[in-house]
Amino acid sequence: MINLSSSFECGNGKNFFQLGENRYRCEVVGDKKVYCYYFCFDVENISENEETVYIEVWQDPLIGDSEGFISHFPTTIWISTKDGRRFQPLEQSLCRVNRQNIEISISLKPGEKRRITNNWPCYYSDTKNFLEHLVNERKNCEILILGKSCGNRDIIGIKAGTRGKPRILCLAGQHPVEFPGIWAIRAIADFITSGIPEAENLRKKFWFEIVPIANPDGNVAGRNCFTDEGVDLYQVFGENPDTDEPDSTEGKILWRWATGLPADLWINFHCYLGWRTNSEFPYDGWYQVPYDTFTDIKKRKVYERLCDTIRLMTDAASTSIEPEIHWLNSFEHQLARRYNIPHVFYEINGGTAGPFQSQKRGLNVFIQTMKTFEACF
Ligand SMILES: [Zn+2]
Repeated sequence: MINLSSSFECGNGKNFFQLGENRYRCEVVGDKKVYCYYFCFDVENISENEETVYIEVWQDPLIGDSEGFISHFPTTIWISTKDGRRFQPLEQSLCRVNRQNIEISISLKPGEKRRITNNWPCYYSDTKNFLEHLVNERKNCEILILGKSCGNRDIIGIKAGTRGKPRILCLAGQHPVEFPGIWAIRAIADFITSGIPEAENLRKKFWFEIVPIANPDGNVAGRNCFTDEGVDLYQVFGENPDTDEPDSTEGKILWRWATGLPADLWINFHCYLGWRTNSEFPYDGWYQVPYDTFTDIKKRKVYERLCDTIRLMTDAASTSIEPEIHWLNSFEHQLARRYNIPHVFYEINGGTAGPFQSQKRGLNVFIQTMKTFEACF
């Protein structure tokens, strides 16, 4: 007998069916087309004997985008270690990508329980503890709370540096299960409050506000894209890119954060999975706006230099050498157009990045970005 469950923080999986002896089907919970790929569930052997279990993972039938689902594979499938504290890649021969579904096989001893996922989770509760620990230990930063999510969770981060200096905003987790971005932002928070001379120098010259999880409700619920209100915080202006401000709870909070006292730089991390045709496995990707979105010539120059930096000094250039272009309804486009706020928007290839690689790549992006940005002043 096998138990399958996804009732935990960052869990995703529904409609677990038994198809035959030791063969099961799990359907993921999607939000919309393409954003319907993430799964994270526990498998427990509650019988007296060792069991080999076959689990087929399928798209969400309510979304009905089997192509969008399968486009995220092949990717690393992670399986928790025996003590449940870490993950390791599931050996490739134990995971098959079929035309419409993927098939995982694992052997479990009596009583053994493992967590299986295609994106190593970065839990909201753990991230909150991590930030509080940083603040208590380092004494050079404070907790920052932007506001409450629709589900009444703190949108939490840290602030550090020198008040009144150029204001740098860093965030991730708009798309909640794009965990590599959250790992990256956590590393940036760690770095910027560290005793490394480079970090000390940056704290003297800049003011940093660092928010790892912009959409805490989505994180806890293991959602691919949406907030509790069903909003995609990347395409935050929805159908109305020209409206004064986004109308969603978290969208408003983030917009006011960026524009109340206009930010000087906006650094946003996302992630993608699989062997996309627009990227060179195992590397990353990035988005830009056309340079002439900026009307302030000086700010445009800064932006061009930042784009050069991302293209030449990081692994982002894997996306066909050319970046993707931001949607008109994104923060990035509207911050550039209305406020001349430059941005860096980086997508980590989560198929090749657990916490360590995400942090390493994210930190490199941040350090290269800040080197260029500092030289612009
Ligand atoms: Zn995303």
